[in-house]
Amino acid sequence: MKEKVKITEVGARDGLQNEKAFIPTNVKIEFIKKLIDASLSHIELTSFVKASSIPQLADASEVSAHFVRQSISQEFSCLTPNLQGYKSAIEHGYKEVAVFTAASNSFTKKNINKTIEESIQAFEDIFLEASKNNVKVRGYVSTIIACPYEGWIDPDKVLGVIDRLLDKGVYEVSLGETIGKAIPSQVEKLLNLILKKHPAKLFAGHFHDTYGMGIANTSKSLEMGLRSFDSSSGGLGGCPYAKGASGNLATEDLLYLLDTHGYETGVDLNKIVEASQYIESFLGRKLMSKSYQALLASKI
Ligand code: MG
Repeated sequence: MKEKVKITEVGARDGLQNEKAFIPTNVKIEFIKKLIDASLSHIELTSFVKASSIPQLADASEVSAHFVRQSISQEFSCLTPNLQGYKSAIEHGYKEVAVFTAASNSFTKKNINKTIEESIQAFEDIFLEASKNNVKVRGYVSTIIACPYEGWIDPDKVLGVIDRLLDKGVYEVSLGETIGKAIPSQVEKLLNLILKKHPAKLFAGHFHDTYGMGIANTSKSLEMGLRSFDSSSGGLGGCPYAKGASGNLATEDLLYLLDTHGYETGVDLNKIVEASQYIESFLGRKLMSKSYQALLASKI
């Protein structure tokens, strides 16, 4: 039997939040429908943040209302930076939310104006409510290898943040290599440290492709036992607080690797290409994923 790998599609949130021009809500909805049609079972739809911080996601309610309660086989999640966001998520019927911190104080300060510790403290109410409501909480840790302000990050510091989040009850920690600078040997060193203490099933890899290392780092993480990865259709994304950080690892590149390796994902690569093609036509630029481009070229 083929071994399963979980893919969390983050294009609609992590990807689109970096697009300056507002993508109309009906386009986002159509894009997400195409992702669903590709049989992605875990999709992060949006974020309940202040519209003034991320205007692109000001339509979180409309997008959520369209999908969450109607869900048959998909597990939808959203980012909730505070209790107010969490409450909105619950009103829309989400059974999973995500909270966000980092392994670098400078990064959390610039990003959410909190230290790492303050950011975790601020989630206290979310953790309490979520355990009452039986809602799963996923924890993002950004800058696991490098920070745009502090440079290379000490792996022990990353482990410290992971310990805190797991202690609070997150069911999965998404390890964010936010600026895409890491190389596989650095990922190996960090995972060696983490996996000595915690089982691999508690972690997801969240890589970026700024220096073309996204798939190399994913491959290293797979080799070391991770079976959960975040990616975005076509490689949408970046990071508004990490200058030069280009897109997330593309779902197409991830699927090409996993399919060819013989892992089971349940996701239809050709339909992901269709979703990317659709959203690309509203972006005014080309999506960067190599596998996306190769598959498009082979269609012509
Ligand atoms: Mg990302």
